[in-house]
Amino acid sequence: MKYIMTTRGKIEDSELGFTYEHEHLYTYLAQKDGAFDYEVTNLDNMEKDLKDIKACGCNSIVDASAIGMGRNAEFLNALSIRTGMNVICTTGFYRDEYIPDVIKDMSDNKVYDLIMNEINNGIGYTGIRPGMIKIGVSKDIVTDEEFRLGKIMCAVQRETNLPFYVHFTDGTCAVETAKYLIDSGAVKEKLILGHVDVPKDRYYLEKLCSFGVNVSMDKFGRDYNNHDKNKVDIVKYLIGKGYLNRILVGGDMGNTKYLSSYSGKPGLDYIIKELIPYMINMGINKEDIKQIFEGNPSRIFSV
Ligand SMILES: [Zn+2]
Repeated sequence: MKYIMTTRGKIEDSELGFTYEHEHLYTYLAQKDGAFDYEVTNLDNMEKDLKDIKACGCNSIVDASAIGMGRNAEFLNALSIRTGMNVICTTGFYRDEYIPDVIKDMSDNKVYDLIMNEINNGIGYTGIRPGMIKIGVSKDIVTDEEFRLGKIMCAVQRETNLPFYVHFTDGTCAVETAKYLIDSGAVKEKLILGHVDVPKDRYYLEKLCSFGVNVSMDKFGRDYNNHDKNKVDIVKYLIGKGYLNRILVGGDMGNTKYLSSYSGKPGLDYIIKELIPYMINMGINKEDIKQIFEGNPSRIFSV
């Protein structure tokens, strides 16, 4: 039987249900100059937002905050307990600018051991085990450190078979990075190329899908006045090309300006209340919607 690791322990893959595949329920992200432009830290607020989407049928959510992003496993677990939702948390790293110096100074073996220890024994002393691994890539360039961590994570993924999310800043550099990771031994069926919807280029996404990896179209909600029509058209195009099983859809709304409980827009509930009915109106059938929001996450996140 396959299972998925959540903050409260293992669940069966069939228990995942409708899933928000890329969000940030807790983020405290300082830029190099010390400015905190992404600060999502209020437990009561996020509880409210999660209860809203749970009431609409969302059962599980992935928090993609990695080391260096203010990751807070106990906060995520508290949310899971308060709301009854499954929360999957993350180990690994973000793009170069946010990789802590202590990591940059570590040998490859030490980094590997650190990540494997989190996966097997939990994050810090919490006992909470991550269900996803992650790296980040800078805009228009993959730095040496990003390549190094990418290769280490390929070894981690081969050992654990966990889903492996790659953050691409503004969706750039995905073709060469995907090739590099596959050449370095990544399990491509469980590789998730993130933010690659940002360029809104259907041929770019089609090419990535042709590698046999998954594309995370997780910047929905940025054009909510038009129901993200351009991206819905791309989802339809990819389905038409036979890539339904490669598509994930999310909102990456880890910023107060997007979250309802902080008076932001469009709110997490946009996806389930507005986007999905619009997708159906635009001719995407309900079975395909179910595959994107349930079947694909269940397959990719289970081990
Ligand atoms: Zn994100």
